[in-house]
Amino acid sequence: MNCSSPSKKLDYALAVLKERGHRLTSPRRAILELMAEESRPLAAEDIRKQVERQNPCDLATVYRNMDACLDAGIVQKCMLENGKILFELVGEHDHHHHIICRKCERTERINLCLADEMEEIATSLGFTEVDHVMELYGVCGDCR
Ligand SMILES: [Zn+2]
Ligand SMILES: [Zn+2]
Repeated sequence: MNCSSPSKKLDYALAVLKERGHRLTSPRRAILELMAEESRPLAAEDIRKQVERQNPCDLATVYRNMDACLDAGIVQKCMLENGKILFELVGEHDHHHHIICRKCERTERINLCLADEMEEIATSLGFTEVDHVMELYGVCGDCR
């Protein structure tokens, strides 16, 4: 099942936000369209710069929208080795991880998650709402 085409991801994101009672403001739509189109993790500052070409948009707006999207489960965070956070729009059942180049910040998807057993252990320890963030870091072919 391919849930990662830009239009499907956008439709899914809009449907989830609507269901949760969020209004679709024009900056919000522009942010989601950009993220669906780019289909890779983006820094808040890059989102602002691109959206601002057509819509008034400041960093606070981007962060506010990312909070709502993270809450709704339609955006996944991706963390660089230096702690910088990137945001990526994800489709339904689209959970994945990344290998990130520590020199040029290029990111590639790893469509595999091996965290189930770890989450089971966490659950057996009495934790609920268990989630995880895991990225791999390396040096890409272009930077070697
Ligand atoms: Zn690189
Ligand atoms: Zn995972």
